[in-house]
Amino acid sequence: MPRYLTDFMKILISNDDGYMAPGLMALYQALQDVAEVEVIAPEQNNSAKSNALTLNAPLYVHQGTNGFRFVNGTPADCVHIALTGLLDYRPDLVVSGINNGANMGDDTIYSGTVGAAMEGYLFGIPAIAFSQVQKNWLHLDAAARKARELVLGMQQQQQLITAKPWLLNVNIPNLPYEQIGRTKLCRLGRRHAAEKAIEQTNPRGERMYWIGAAGPAADDAEGTDFHATTQGHVSITPLKVDLTDYDNLGYWAQTAARLVPDANSSSA
Ligand code: MN
Repeated sequence: MPRYLTDFMKILISNDDGYMAPGLMALYQALQDVAEVEVIAPEQNNSAKSNALTLNAPLYVHQGTNGFRFVNGTPADCVHIALTGLLDYRPDLVVSGINNGANMGDDTIYSGTVGAAMEGYLFGIPAIAFSQVQKNWLHLDAAARKARELVLGMQQQQQLITAKPWLLNVNIPNLPYEQIGRTKLCRLGRRHAAEKAIEQTNPRGERMYWIGAAGPAADDAEGTDFHATTQGHVSITPLKVDLTDYDNLGYWAQTAARLVPDANSSSA
């Protein structure tokens, strides 16, 4: 049942950098006087865990010395457990972050920050993933203030009382509040393929690999998140989960129709 705008909104916060991350605390502090806020975050850093759920081990919930509850699992685990067992109410909004580093373009596929927000969205709840562009927490207070403004703006526009959930991906440049530009609606850009894997030898003489760094922007044209944040603006991109390639359904219809049934699987 929809609640009234005058009600105190209920917000579930998670992240992928872990429950001790400065970005999580900043987001909590920015929202705690405008909403009933609950934090449930991963115990460890879970960057690039996307929507992963832990199915092969039990999940435990503990409370940290900072008051936040943490889970020995992924960002999506945290939101999933919260919505299916831990909370005795349904939040009006799920927010994730503020992430330590950009989640733009193809990053959104890998991002645990986006994954936590997406888990809320998949449960029918509006959700926002917040990231700071650089990985140094510089001007985190300004990013938190921008996050708060966006949440309040969405509430004032009655976007939280909606039959249809939405999912926003937000990237905020590391600038002082006064220097942050406009909030711009963007499409996702693209990155080049990642850098080479880093090959090393461990102390036992075995070969090992480290995943290389993400590639630089390949499509950072005007209108993309890369372009907006480079200009000092806050980028907002609405995301959807349906990965169907609608543009090419016609092409694949012809190809699929010409597929020959597998002779081995046909019963004689
Ligand atoms: Mn992260």
